[in-house]
Amino acid sequence: MKCCTKCKIEKPLTEFYKHKGKKSGLMSECKSCKDVKNREWREENPDKVKEIVKKWQEKNPDKCKEYFSKWKEENPEKLKEYQDEYQKKYNKENREKRREIERRYALKKRIKNQNAWVYLKDYPLL
Ligand SMILES: [Zn+2]
Repeated sequence: MKCCTKCKIEKPLTEFYKHKGKKSGLMSECKSCKDVKNREWREENPDKVKEIVKKWQEKNPDKCKEYFSKWKEENPEKLKEYQDEYQKKYNKENREKRREIERRYALKKRIKNQNAWVYLKDYPLL
C-alpha cells in the first residue's frame, strides 16, 4: 500500500503510475489524482497537447495509422461526428473565401452577359 500525496488516501501500488525517475519507481500521486491533473493540464494547454501528439505521430507513423484505423473501426459514429464537425469548421472558415469566389464568379458572368448584350447591340438588324 502507498499513500497518495494528493488525496492522502492509502491505495494499493497498482493504483499508482510508474515513474522511472523516482526511487520507489512509482508516482507519488495515485492514478485518479494524476488523471484529474492530466485532464486539467490538457484542457489548459491544448496547443502543447497538439504538439506532443504531432511529435508522437511523426515518430510513430505506423503505430499512429494502426491506432487510427482501429479507432475508426471501433468508433464509426464518433468518426462521423468528427468529420461533420470538421466540415462545419471548414465551411465556417471558408465561408468568406467562398463568398469572394462566388462574387467574382457572378461578376464574371455579368461581364460576359454584358459583353453579349454589347455584341448584340452592334448588330442593328437583330
Ligand atoms: Zn490520490
